[in-house]
Amino acid sequence: MRCPFCGNVDSQVKDSRPAEDHVAIRRRRFCPACGGRFTTYERVQLRDLVVIKNSGKREDFDRTKLERSIRIAMQKRPLDPERIDQMISGIVRRLESMGETDIASKVIGEIVMETLARIDTVSYVRFASVYKNFQAADDFDKFVSELRPQGGADE
Ligand SMILES: [Zn+2]
Repeated sequence: MRCPFCGNVDSQVKDSRPAEDHVAIRRRRFCPACGGRFTTYERVQLRDLVVIKNSGKREDFDRTKLERSIRIAMQKRPLDPERIDQMISGIVRRLESMGETDIASKVIGEIVMETLARIDTVSYVRFASVYKNFQAADDFDKFVSELRPQGGADE
């Protein structure tokens, strides 16, 4: 982080601590070139979240994928679409406020299951049954295709 006083790029972090109820990390910095002190805040943003798969592979978090899997699990359930949107936003906010940019895919799956269990048992069972295979497959696209009801033409 560039020193705002002299422009030196090698400022040092002297202290890091959670702020705003763990939504941010406050860092106190020191510039060895000019002796200046300043503070920066680090906040988690959606586009910065990285999913760590079971295999150890890293992938940018994609809200659309999460949303797709949840909507498929909730297909034909008598739930207000607005409520589903709120639920998804709530899950994303939880992920964002964990204070880490790297999140294990397992953690995401657990949060989704926990949330679905509270809202709709049928959707929860659908999601959870496929999620077990997903854990082994470690492939989100495969997960989504397995979650899709077989045939899909029974409307
Ligand atoms: Zn400086």
